[in-house]
Amino acid sequence: MTKRYFIWTVGCQMNEADSERIERDLAGQGLSPAETAESADLIVLNTCSVRAAAEERTYGKLGELRDLKRRRPDLIVAVGGCMVGADHSALARRAPHVDLFFRPQQHQTLIGRVAGTAGGVPARLDLDVELGGTGDGCVDDSIALSARIGRPARFLNVMSGCNRACTYCIVPLRRGRETSRPTSDLAEDARRLVAEGAREVTLLGQIVDRYGRDLPDRPDLATLFEALSSIEGLQRIRFLTSHPADMPERVIDAVARLPKVMPHFNIPVQSGDDAMLRRMRRGYTVERYRRLIDRVRSVVPDATIATDVIVGMCGETEAEFGNTLRLIEDVRFDVVHVAMYSPRPETRAAAWNDDVPPDVKRARLHAVEEVQERISTQINHGYLGRIEPVLVEGTRRGRWEGRTQGNKLVFFDDPRPLVGEIVPVQITRTGAWSLQGEVPRAVTPERHRFAIV
Ligand code: SF4
Repeated sequence: MTKRYFIWTVGCQMNEADSERIERDLAGQGLSPAETAESADLIVLNTCSVRAAAEERTYGKLGELRDLKRRRPDLIVAVGGCMVGADHSALARRAPHVDLFFRPQQHQTLIGRVAGTAGGVPARLDLDVELGGTGDGCVDDSIALSARIGRPARFLNVMSGCNRACTYCIVPLRRGRETSRPTSDLAEDARRLVAEGAREVTLLGQIVDRYGRDLPDRPDLATLFEALSSIEGLQRIRFLTSHPADMPERVIDAVARLPKVMPHFNIPVQSGDDAMLRRMRRGYTVERYRRLIDRVRSVVPDATIATDVIVGMCGETEAEFGNTLRLIEDVRFDVVHVAMYSPRPETRAAAWNDDVPPDVKRARLHAVEEVQERISTQINHGYLGRIEPVLVEGTRRGRWEGRTQGNKLVFFDDPRPLVGEIVPVQITRTGAWSLQGEVPRAVTPERHRFAIV
């Protein structure tokens, strides 16, 4: 009987892309996807430690799996991702029912065990067993990764790790130093994704602008854009995340020059106050950030810009927070992802006094959300009546769902099968978080030149 796996992913798109690779490798070992965790032989938790809330979700899931494992001792539980550091003994003590831990980007440890090639397969990891019944302890709240294969918009990790050391951030401690993948490997991966039905690929890196600096031939993100632009069938290339101190002019120019590279930038500012930026060790000033945004907008006039903001980090005063609000008002981002600071173990800031009370953090978060909702509403209103090329990614509540070149979410109705098509949609309604529209008569979508799985 074919053994089945179930993958539960928390966190960022990089984790999602890692999970896709795990899935592909498990499929290569002859395993097939399970519909639910209860019906799986192998459950993989791909974890995130960027915020305390993400870790709590994993601990909750591990608690559910403890019950399931009690009923099904043959079940294999593997935990990977950013919660697994060099020393994961505390995690192992808290979750003794986990069979295997593997660090980010080291999922071959898992695949090796499954394949029985990592120095012998311990009995507990022997997957060649008959299944027992299903339990009811695990709620299926994961993304069914197998459903992602064949989707028009896919992720591709081009590098991992980060050489910076922002004082609040645990990523460098868990994902290590920057390691880029060779351009030729990435082009091969992108071709495979296109063969599976992808029309858009998002290139992912912790600081994606630094792609290639560690490779012998020192390619950069712009040369990677060029290499991928030549792939037939690949219509759109996106990239994230950028760092304000690392974004070269060549990348901005390449976005303007290469039609397949979408004019959307994700440039986290984190704070609008210089003293706070110094405490965060971000490596730029507010003025430098503003100049970068001006440069992006002058070279790529239709650019949409998203940012990340942390509120309530150690010692953040009302005046410092006010500077962040002012920056948001001035820059008028398309999207602001805002998070409350939570100390992460082993980071530099973890030793500092987490002195902004939780209700103040929450109030600041809501203040950012309010300001940004107003700005996003105003910006999106400007799309009314425009015709936007939308890549249709799927359906939600019976309507087509897709994204514009600038990454705006669009919903519309149309009787035709449109997944994977780029459809001109006239915008008829706008809101803070999405647009709605209709396909003008006498306009047909571009035909898909390859199979949609
Ligand atoms: S740039 Fe800073 S916030 Fe981003 S991953 Fe690196 S250390 Fe973390």
